Amino acid sequence: MSRQLIKYVLEREDYGAEVTVAGWVRTRRDSKGGFSFIELYDGSGFSGIQIIADGDLPNYESDVLRLTIGSAARITGVLTESPGKGQRVEIKATEVEAIGFADPERYPLQKKRMSFEALRDIAHLRARTNALGAVARVRNALSYATHRFYQDRDFLYLHAPIITASDAEGAGEMFRVSTLNPEAPPRNDEGIDYGQDFFGRPTFLTVSGQLNAETYALALDRVYTFGPTFRAENSNTRRHLAEFWMIEPEMAFADLNDNADLAEDYVQYLVRYVLDHCGDDLEFFNKWVEEGIIDQLTAVADSEFERITYTKAVELLEESGESFEYPVRWGADLQSEHERYLTEKVFNRPVTVTDFPFDFKAFYMRRNDDGKTVAAMDVLVPGVGEIIGGSQREERLDVLADSMRIKGMDEDHYWWYLDLRRFGSVPHAGFGLGLERVVQFCTGMQNIRDVIPFPRTPRNAEY
Ligand code: ATP
Ligand code: MG
Repeated sequence: MSRQLIKYVLEREDYGAEVTVAGWVRTRRDSKGGFSFIELYDGSGFSGIQIIADGDLPNYESDVLRLTIGSAARITGVLTESPGKGQRVEIKATEVEAIGFADPERYPLQKKRMSFEALRDIAHLRARTNALGAVARVRNALSYATHRFYQDRDFLYLHAPIITASDAEGAGEMFRVSTLNPEAPPRNDEGIDYGQDFFGRPTFLTVSGQLNAETYALALDRVYTFGPTFRAENSNTRRHLAEFWMIEPEMAFADLNDNADLAEDYVQYLVRYVLDHCGDDLEFFNKWVEEGIIDQLTAVADSEFERITYTKAVELLEESGESFEYPVRWGADLQSEHERYLTEKVFNRPVTVTDFPFDFKAFYMRRNDDGKTVAAMDVLVPGVGEIIGGSQREERLDVLADSMRIKGMDEDHYWWYLDLRRFGSVPHAGFGLGLERVVQFCTGMQNIRDVIPFPRTPRNAEY
């Protein structure tokens, strides 16, 4: 008899059938009547299954009574309608095979609830908790939905390089990739001689696959990347990681409006997908993590996003009378508190903000005719703030070169990027969505460190 995943067994109604399941013990209660209730969990869905292990089992004393929380077992038995509350079926065990015991004196995950912070110190075991298991399933669903969304719309999945020599955001804060001996690097007149490094030049972990994606969009029309990106920002916030996963679609023959349409459709698709496929997990988040999250997600999936310009956003914030930690003024970037005020207080729905000042945006964004702003957009959502940043790209060679000069960038270094504007240049646009921010949004999890299996943050790379 082959093993079945618990989520499928929980749906069965063929009482009397023999089933085999395997997993880890969530709880065990021993009844005075000489039998035990075991809740076994295998992560296939939110719920575990209840097993009744009778005292008559030949290994009841030797094994069943040693199956403490965290122990692993394979159990065969008869599917039975459950008289108890909270489950429809249970398994009356005919065979219990203890596979791996977990010493109750030492196993750190006992029945009492632990804080998410404490769980971070046992990241190798936290996937066994209700919350982190549910997060993992939602994250998986969002990844799968991402591929479905883009594949259904004829976007080609592109693998952008992880090691790069260019800084896509033009802003530094990258991790260096080097094989030079840090104790005695070769030197020249200018300092360390990276000409002798592995790649014969300075190289870094990528902050974005966008520049590479643009080259393929200008050949294959619609592409998207989905991979890890890295930022060496020393920001210890609840929404920044040093290593995170980004999805970056790029479309040829598209402007800022097309871009915003795609971004909004994509976010709604993700939310709808999670509502349709992760019901049990969402109910858990709704009850224990963020009350009302299901209603909020349903509203996001069903209603249009607000779309306003940056200039309008600044006006609204100035009129608000709110005292922000960072003062609002035209020309300064929106801070998290401003983003959240707009989406939570002013509009109570996601907001797409467009046309930001040229001064603090990246060199590749298309300059608007007003001479002050660029065709950029951010999508903001309640609870999290920015989840998407994107733009129409500058397709005009002379304007792009001018932007690079103003931002103090080396044109020679970006010769291939400029070539795209020399040969068959077309309007094109794209954006980046941070996967972890969307997982936060869909689960209500407060800290980004709890929505990725092994978070990388300043001073933390254990596991
Ligand atoms: P923020 O202002 O929130 O720091 P950003 O403007 O620097 O973000 P972009 O360069 O626009 O971010 O990156 C695109 C998307 O990638 C963001 O909208 C966000 O969802 C995600 N993202 C950016 N930086 C991080 C980070 N350090 N950790 C997790 N996600 C991130
Ligand atoms: Mg941004």
